[in-house]
Parts: sequence; C-alpha cells; structure tokens
Amino acid sequence: MTEFMTSFELHGKPYGFTCIDCPERGSRAIEGDWVSYDTTKSLTGRETLYIGLPKRCKKCNAKYQVHKRATEAINRLYFVKPVNDGWEFLKFVTITRELELSPNKTPSKEEVRDFKKWYVKGRDIIRTELNILGGTDVVEIVTTEKQGLFHHHMHIHGIWIMPYMKVDTWRKAMDKVGFGRDQIRAIKNTTWTNDEGKVYETSAIRNCIKYLSKYLSKDSTSRRMMWGEVRRWKEHFHPDAPSHIKTMRQYDSWKSELGAP
Ligand SMILES: [Zn+2]
Repeated sequence: MTEFMTSFELHGKPYGFTCIDCPERGSRAIEGDWVSYDTTKSLTGRETLYIGLPKRCKKCNAKYQVHKRATEAINRLYFVKPVNDGWEFLKFVTITRELELSPNKTPSKEEVRDFKKWYVKGRDIIRTELNILGGTDVVEIVTTEKQGLFHHHMHIHGIWIMPYMKVDTWRKAMDKVGFGRDQIRAIKNTTWTNDEGKVYETSAIRNCIKYLSKYLSKDSTSRRMMWGEVRRWKEHFHPDAPSHIKTMRQYDSWKSELGAP
C-alpha cells in the first residue's frame, strides 16, 4: 500500500477549531485536498485521507459551525452598514426585563412570547427615534431557584447597526420604553499581548463574531432574530448578482470573480 503522510506530520500550523482529539487537524502549509484509496482496514474497502484540510471531531465541528453562522450574520451586518462618519462600529446591546417569581421550572411559551412582544414593541419605538438600521438578536433565559419558586431572567443580546450618539440620548429613549439602564457600547478593535510581549490586534469585525458565537453556542433556549435592514440584505446586492446566491461568502466570491466594485 502506498504510504500516505497525514498533513499533521507535514508540520504546518493546524487549522482553527481543531484539537488533539480531531482525526486530522490539517495543515495550513499545504494546499487543501483529499485522497481516496483502497484499503482492507475499512469495511467499505475505501478510506479517505485529508491532505491539508482538517477532519474535525464532533465537538470541534459544532464549534466551527457556530463560528460559521456567526461570521455569516456579522458579514451581513457589515454589508448593509453605512460607512459614513459615526457608523464605523456595530453596537453591542443588552436588554433585560425583570420578571416576577414563577412556580414553573421553565418559562411557559406564553411568558417567552410576552417577553419577545414587549421587547420588539420597545425596539420599534427606539428604532425610529435613534435611527437604528437593524441588527441580530439572541434571546437568552437564565433560571434561578428562590425558595421553591423560579426566577426566569429573560434578556436579549443584540448586535445593532446604530450611529454614534451621546449616552444621554439613547438612555432617555431606552428609559421611555422601559429598557432600563442596560448597556450599549461600540464593538471596536482591541489589542492583546502574547507571552513574548508581542502585540496583536483583533479587528472590530472579528470581535463582533466572537460575541455572537458566544451567545449562539450557549443553550437551546437561545434563539436568533434578524431584523430591520439586515433582513433585506439581498436588496443591497449588485443588480447583476445571480439569484442563486444565498450567503455573503458566495456573494463576495461572485464579486471578486467579476472584478465588480
Ligand atoms: Zn477536536
């Protein structure tokens, strides 16, 4: 049998979202490809070797899928976001509603629906007032027990397309709809230093992806909503864009092949 060297043995830097338990971490040093060959070791008589590309374990693959979903969502936000002064950064938003103690261990469908209704109603009001273009939101519910009763802490983590404004301006608008004192802040570039003292920069867009991944991967109760201009993201396409395009990634590759502006 031909001896195949796995890409791990070729010593390139392994791909992201891989661990030592992954069947194949891949190598960035070589062009991604895979080879299928005959073998008596497998029941099907064939085996596939990944040369360069990773073959992820279940856990790593789940993380990678969340990352891909978050990347697609954030790319859409950036795509529809104006580039004018004051619109440089997306905003990270947290909105909470304090609920009364409930005898139910998990919130009822009605309670969740009520919360969402309350939230969307308030959001629609401040959206006009503050000129918020749209965003992507994740609903999160954290339940704690209190003397045999349950407290369902329902809240929203959102990433919004919103222009720069003074804190007082958005605070006043949030207060009016009962969104309270929760935070809105711009997601900017950050820097970090490694053990050797070398300074690296994480771009604003990557930080957005990190935030969204965190909330998307939490639990099954978290659900994502896209609203406003982001829902109409395809209307921002170039008029010649083919209709089969379904993702930002496909759109970007179509554009780069076309050499379009
Ligand atoms: Zn793994």
